[in-house]
Amino acid sequence: MNILILGVQGSGKGTQAKRVAAEYGIAHVSTGDMLRAAIAQGSELGRRVQPILDSGRLVPDELIVDLIRERIAGEQGFVLDGFPRTMSQAAALDEMLREEARELDVVLELQVSDEVATERMLARVEAEGRTDDTPETIRTRLELYHRETEPLVEYYRAKGIVVGIHGERPVDAVFSEIQETLERVAA
Ligand code: AMP
Repeated sequence: MNILILGVQGSGKGTQAKRVAAEYGIAHVSTGDMLRAAIAQGSELGRRVQPILDSGRLVPDELIVDLIRERIAGEQGFVLDGFPRTMSQAAALDEMLREEARELDVVLELQVSDEVATERMLARVEAEGRTDDTPETIRTRLELYHRETEPLVEYYRAKGIVVGIHGERPVDAVFSEIQETLERVAA
């Protein structure tokens, strides 16, 4: 199954994406994790993207698209987490999947208010010490989500593959709803 999870930072999409990948034996493809790993390794890519991540802005589309192309080649199924984030990335993904005669089966939209997302991100600053979670970057990332990423919900809704998930609940309750949805989609 090829799944995309959309949701603002702090919606819990990373946590849910990991669980879905583990439960269904598919790849968890998180561009944020991949970029942070490159930074930790001190690779050329890492050095290039570190200032961008620290500011909460978006890494250039071409760079991300190449990263994804390599990452999903040969994977039987995947859950995309953090990509696509712009309309141009969504178009590139469509093209990439079409070339391989594949498609997205479902887009899960994790719905969480900005207030709840902000609270959760601020809590994460303490817990994980992520350098890109500060009040300013949180604001930047929320704005970017609404402007650049939210339009993707309509784009995929027009394809009839979006399912909304209530994200303001405990992790297990959210995961159960996702499981029910995926069982419906697979049937
Ligand atoms: P995330 O862990 O998904 O919140 O990603 C952390 C940071 O990585 C973002 O704030 C961006 O700077 C960068 N990033 C991750 N995914 C993408 C993407 N698809 N396009 C552009 N930048 C991205």
